[in-house]
Amino acid sequence: MILPIIIYGNPILRKKCIDIDFLSCKKKINLLIEDMFETIHKEKGIGLAAPQIGKNIRLFIIEPPDFNDGKKGRNYKEVFINAKILKVHGEKSILNEGCLSIPGVMGDVERKSHVSIEYYNHNWKKQKKIFTGICSRIIQHEYDHIEGKLFIDYFSSIKRKMIKKKLISLYEKITYK
Ligand SMILES: [Zn+2]
Repeated sequence: MILPIIIYGNPILRKKCIDIDFLSCKKKINLLIEDMFETIHKEKGIGLAAPQIGKNIRLFIIEPPDFNDGKKGRNYKEVFINAKILKVHGEKSILNEGCLSIPGVMGDVERKSHVSIEYYNHNWKKQKKIFTGICSRIIQHEYDHIEGKLFIDYFSSIKRKMIKKKLISLYEKITYK
């Protein structure tokens, strides 16, 4: 099932998410993960975090395009449940990012190259891994979502002024049911 994406201005995007009690709701979460992948395929996204579909839980998925570091092949995807970043380290780099929750806004974000992270994967197995490259970039972006942080928070004050009108127009479109 394709899920509607929560757009900027909805307060859920600013909330710190809570851990999933997976003993009690594994089945529900598995279904949600399937729906999240279906949703990013439709939206042509490369990552999605639970608050973006209205759930205040520590869950995100990544599916980088053309990811090929010689080990994992092209259709690499990963699920991060109750993730905890242990360290971000390495070289700093700047990349133009976008976000399904802030359509029409792109901007340069500086991040470090490596991320050490602990999480449960799609099999609910505990993992401790270091990611680099595009995976590291997407993980840091999605992890920010579950911490209530958005990529625009990294923008310079000039850039923020430039996108202010756009943000207000997104904000004004929100309807609460
Ligand atoms: Zn995003």
